Amino acid sequence: MYNNILLIMISYLFIIISMITSTNADIVNEPVFIPPENYISENNLIGIWALSVCSCVGLLHKSRNPIDIEYTDEEYDGKSYQKLTLKEGKSLKKLKKDLNEIKKAIDYLEKQEVAKEKVEKNIETDIPNSIKYMFGNGEIRSKKNGKYYHGIIGNVDKYKFGQKWWIEDIFDNHFLHYTNSNTKLPHKEWDTHNPQDFCNNCFKDLEHPMNIKKRKNFWYQCKGHEI
Ligand SMILES: [Zn+2]
Repeated sequence: MYNNILLIMISYLFIIISMITSTNADIVNEPVFIPPENYISENNLIGIWALSVCSCVGLLHKSRNPIDIEYTDEEYDGKSYQKLTLKEGKSLKKLKKDLNEIKKAIDYLEKQEVAKEKVEKNIETDIPNSIKYMFGNGEIRSKKNGKYYHGIIGNVDKYKFGQKWWIEDIFDNHFLHYTNSNTKLPHKEWDTHNPQDFCNNCFKDLEHPMNIKKRKNFWYQCKGHEI
C-alpha cells in the first residue's frame, strides 16, 4: 500500500517538474478555463507532500529546495489549484537527477509487484506468436488455468490503464468497445471498434460497474479460449 502511494506521488512529481521546465521558456495564451501548466490540483498528493516536507526543517533544508509550492485563490472551471514556481537563482538539475534515480527504483518495485501478481494468480503472459491471433484480431495476452484470454491482465496492466479509474479485479479479461469508429483507440491491447472481430468468445458485460449508465464505449469480457 505504501509503495502504491509512493508510486503515485513520484509519478505526479515527475509530471510537475517536466511542466515547470517546459513552460519557463514561453508563455502561451490558453483559454481562461484551463489553468497555467505549472498549476496542479489542490488535492494533488505530491504537492501536499512536498509542502509538508519543505516545511519540516531537517528533512529537506529550505535552501536546497528549488521550487515553491503555494495554494492559489485562482479557480479554473470551479477547481482550486496549487501553484509551482522555480525559486530565483535555483536550478532544477539536481532535483531532476534525483527524480530519475527514484524513478529507476520505482520501476523496479513496479516490476516486482507485477511478477508477484502473476505468480499469485498463476498467470502466464509469454504467449507464442502462433497463438496470439488464433481467436480474433485482438491479441491474446494471458493464459490462466489452461485457457487463453484477451483483454486486461489484472494488476499487471494497472499502471498502463491509469490509476484514476482502476478498481481491483473488475477489469480482468475485459476489453473496451469504442462505438464511434472514428475515435482513436488509446490502448491497442484492449480497445476495439469491433468486439466480435476482436474476440470470438466474448459477451457484453452488462453488469460491469463501468457499463452502468453508459451510452457508448462498453466493456466486454473474454470467456477464454482453449486449444
Ligand atoms: Zn477472447
